[in-house]
Amino acid sequence: MHQRVDQDRPGRLYPVVLAVRQGKLLAFWCPHCRRRHYHGVHMSTCGCPCPLHDGQQGSCRCPLGSGDGHRSAHCTDDDRPGSPFRKGGYIVVETSIAELDGFVDFCLDMPPSPDRDLLIRLLREKRAALIRAGGQP
Ligand SMILES: [Zn+2]
Ligand SMILES: [Zn+2]
Ligand SMILES: [Zn+2]
Repeated sequence: MHQRVDQDRPGRLYPVVLAVRQGKLLAFWCPHCRRRHYHGVHMSTCGCPCPLHDGQQGSCRCPLGSGDGHRSAHCTDDDRPGSPFRKGGYIVVETSIAELDGFVDFCLDMPPSPDRDLLIRLLREKRAALIRAGGQP
């Protein structure tokens, strides 16, 4: 699992989860709970100009990645106890199936090597997880 520093909490490392947008939510497939977790694209404190902050309904139209950042984990011990996400949460990073497909195409243009093949395999695993989270190919 990749880790990244939360820009609002310098010096701490959190796991990174890849999410897809569904309306005004970001969804990802939790490998520990084996189910989807949802977070709002925008945090109440983000202060951005998205109309959803003014109580408007509908889908968030903000650019990809607008909601990236740290969230408290939605993992519970009800499903499968002991999720390591529960301790400090995670950093949600929005992507899309199309973006991952673009990365795979980029890799396929590289000269064949074990590293390239590993990268393609990892990207395809991420792609499958995004589809389990509700992403549309
Ligand atoms: Zn916002
Ligand atoms: Zn928005
Ligand atoms: Zn979970």
